[in-house]
Amino acid sequence: MKTPIAYTEGGQLGHYINGSRVASASGRAQDVFNPATGAAARSVALGSADEAGTAVAAAAAAFAAWADTPPIRRARVMQRFLQLMNQHRDTLAAMITAEHGKVFSDAQGEVSRGIDIIEFACGIPQLLKGDYTDQVSTGMDNWTLRQPLGVVVGITPFNFPCMVPCWMFPIALAAGNTFVLKPSERDPSASLFMADLLTEAGLPAGVFNVVQGDKVVVDALIAHPEVKAVSFVGSTPIAQYISERSAHFGKRVQALGGAKNHLVVMPDADIEQAVDALIGAGYGSAGERCMAISIAVLVGDVADKILPLLAERVKALVIGNGMNAEAEMGPIVTRQALERIEGYVGLGVAEGATLVVDGRDCRVPGHEAGFFTGGTLFDNVTPAMRIYKEEIFGPVLGCVRVKDFAQAVQLVNDHEFGNGVACYTSDGGVAREFARRIQVGMVGINVPIPVPMAWHGFGGWKRSLFGDTHAYGEEGVRFYTKQKSVMQRWPDSIGKGAEFAMPTAK
Ligand code: NAD
Repeated sequence: MKTPIAYTEGGQLGHYINGSRVASASGRAQDVFNPATGAAARSVALGSADEAGTAVAAAAAAFAAWADTPPIRRARVMQRFLQLMNQHRDTLAAMITAEHGKVFSDAQGEVSRGIDIIEFACGIPQLLKGDYTDQVSTGMDNWTLRQPLGVVVGITPFNFPCMVPCWMFPIALAAGNTFVLKPSERDPSASLFMADLLTEAGLPAGVFNVVQGDKVVVDALIAHPEVKAVSFVGSTPIAQYISERSAHFGKRVQALGGAKNHLVVMPDADIEQAVDALIGAGYGSAGERCMAISIAVLVGDVADKILPLLAERVKALVIGNGMNAEAEMGPIVTRQALERIEGYVGLGVAEGATLVVDGRDCRVPGHEAGFFTGGTLFDNVTPAMRIYKEEIFGPVLGCVRVKDFAQAVQLVNDHEFGNGVACYTSDGGVAREFARRIQVGMVGINVPIPVPMAWHGFGGWKRSLFGDTHAYGEEGVRFYTKQKSVMQRWPDSIGKGAEFAMPTAK
């Protein structure tokens, strides 16, 4: 086995093309920070359009043989990869903590959710099995099958450097495609580590490639004539851009965007459970999750009961280096992101929201240069405020007070994003009505972060997803394959003479 690139090493991270790690010759690079210390631990290459082209060429050359490999043999490669991912789960998690900042237990959870999709992809022979109708007409049968597309591309965000790529490539590869991953330039190590493990698992060279970089690489990949489909996960403005650019070049595309997730607390909810849910989902991973709860919708008299409890818990959050087992919340990914988040806190005050807990000026002893902010809590947030409308992507929870259930549903449905939502209630009728009427792709009833399991598929509505299919699950299999229908008959059942009428069952 090649030695996986250790997260403790310095130096420059490059690409993974045609079965090996290769250095970039682009001459462009950027620092990769350890957010807990604020130090630039290493750098990552920002590849060129030519390097993107080299990766696509490797993937294109590998496609025919891989697509022809029986699905059961492709599944066996995935099974070996699954074993290696389980074996190296903690190494990968530590690598994620060192570049992203999230606490180690959270990083372990991320790796586990990625592994779930690999397990699902191991079932690809069953998933690719088509439909068959015997005797659609006398002496004639009809069946459907799904075939891979060719070279497909994944472009992924910083907040889940293992899990989000795993939403894409295990299913794409198992279905017989070849893949080029363009990971986030902020935490690139996990992508190379997984590339090493795929090769160790027996994946042929060129089937999985990684090109590090930014817009230059992304634009080149989408425009490349050999690329058949593009999967993107990231912020909404970039998702929209990727969707439009992919459509322009005639590519199949799914582009998952940003979010502003609400958690509605009904007056009959268990208040302690709702507080736990808001603290975990609002401040876990420092709010840097597309399924984080950033708005609490407090119905009726809930505000008076819940706000004192919430404030106490936000002030008590244990903030520190993610490798410290005590820490509940780690640092923000970069200084720039930290300044953006704290800028929103200032904006909320200027807009007239009530600042209940101010997370700014957070100092972690021994980590003075780290990118830390504390938990922030606002009350009296209104739908007209920018802190309500825009994605902050940090540990900032805003409370909106509404008078009843109908107003809560209207509020959520009027928001431009529709990724995740939750409702806390002890009334089954309210819960059922909520799940049916809410205009959001993923709904939790007394579940704060309803990320669907591997076989259910993940995706938001409205401006949280551009495209027709959700990520992973059977939707993922459909995205990475195209259906073919075959009708067959053999000479002794073929009638003599041409037929000019539309064929019908005979
Ligand atoms: P981002 O949009 O800045 O970057 C995502 C990817 O796009 C990265 O690989 C980046 O290099 C690339 N990119 C950035 N600017 C680009 C440009 N101008 N042209 C082409 N490519 C470009 O997102 P991020 O900051 O890495 O991640 C956080 C965002 O991702 C949040 O908005 C979050 O809600 C969203 N997200 C959504 C989901 C989901 O499933 N809907 C999941 C995770 C994260």
